[in-house]
Amino acid sequence: MSTSHKLFSEAEQYIPGGVNSPVRAWRAVGGSPLFIQRGRGCRVIDADGKEYIDYLGSWGPLIVGHAHPQVVKALEEALKRGTSFGAPTAKEIELAKLIVKSVPSVEKVRLASSGTEATMTALRLARASTKRAKILKFAGCYHGHSDALLVRAGSGALTFSQPDSQGVPEAFASQTLVAEYNSLESVEAYLRAEQVAAVIVEPVPGNMGVVLPEAGFLAGLRELTRAYGVVLIFDEVMTGFRLARGGAQEIYAIDPDLTCLAKVIGGGLPLAAVGGKRAIMELLAPLGPVYQAGTLSGNPLAVTAGIETLKILDSPDAYARLNELGTLMAEGLRRAIRDTGLVACVNHIGSMFTVFFGVDQVRDYATATRSDTTMFARYFQGMIERGMYLPPSQFESAFLSLAHSEAEVEETVAAAREVFRSLCS
Ligand code: PMP
Repeated sequence: MSTSHKLFSEAEQYIPGGVNSPVRAWRAVGGSPLFIQRGRGCRVIDADGKEYIDYLGSWGPLIVGHAHPQVVKALEEALKRGTSFGAPTAKEIELAKLIVKSVPSVEKVRLASSGTEATMTALRLARASTKRAKILKFAGCYHGHSDALLVRAGSGALTFSQPDSQGVPEAFASQTLVAEYNSLESVEAYLRAEQVAAVIVEPVPGNMGVVLPEAGFLAGLRELTRAYGVVLIFDEVMTGFRLARGGAQEIYAIDPDLTCLAKVIGGGLPLAAVGGKRAIMELLAPLGPVYQAGTLSGNPLAVTAGIETLKILDSPDAYARLNELGTLMAEGLRRAIRDTGLVACVNHIGSMFTVFFGVDQVRDYATATRSDTTMFARYFQGMIERGMYLPPSQFESAFLSLAHSEAEVEETVAAAREVFRSLCS
């Protein structure tokens, strides 16, 4: 029995499902999860000492790799000064300034500790500023686990929202409308019929696997929300500082009212932010009537890791490099799919990518959920055997970092080619 297996059995006795976040349990791919003892650069080492090239990157934050020396050094120094004060520190201004300077639509920003908090606060702000209750999200987009956002499309969603989780009262779930990603018609139908406070969207969804916005979709969302007086919230928890310094809004030149950030801005420590137009942000307490708070918000360690990560990313070629590696990976995987005759497709943007099995195109939740998850599970296990650590679900993005190089990408594509071949036989 492997050490990871033993640890998981022990964990199951004390922690529900043995994990502190459900996808970590590998339920979608079978087997028991690897326990990780350390990470360095683009690699992680499990409890048995086996090394893997890591494409999980802690689900996105580790864009400069594990234990980057500059981040570690700054953290060591911060640690000695004290871990938390519950009072303002100068470093918070430094991070806030970096965010305001980098993310085009953000004029003011409030720091929190998780993406869930950031999106929850964004909704509260939107509701307060519009004096409306309903919010509109898209099927397959994930925005954390607050009550209002644990709702997705099912067949009944157009008429009657179903909570995705038990414990969410129907009265809450009914305030959330679910439209189809890449369909402006489905959005406009709701905006015409309902009093909607906010449209919240992952501008480039990563939570149904990577899905790309079609030409005009994001611009159309901006136009429609303006026309109907609705707050447009970009959830850039995954894409912020990942696709570009200014996130997806920089790439697609869209000016949302509010933006949610997390992951990269915390460099692997718990940190998130909600930012946006001054008039909306100034509704927040203590200036305004919208309450939001956090004992550890703007925590000095998290802020330090974030600042150092954003500094490393502030080199002229950081994003060009990430794009280069992402393109090499996507093209290599596509070539391997073609050569082996497997039915699969690769969605890719910058340093994010997903291989979908059994389908030749994925553009929304309906097409994503047509993919063959059994085939994905076999791919995942085949890659683990070959020392490649991917997200353990078909409906997630894999992430590259600045610590990856061409050599690792080529090794990974070669391993994928072997696995694809075995899936065809
Ligand atoms: N929004 C998006 C787009 C996310 O990908 C996630 C987490 N994967 C969240 C919100 C929630 O963030 P957290 O897990 O930090 O609460």
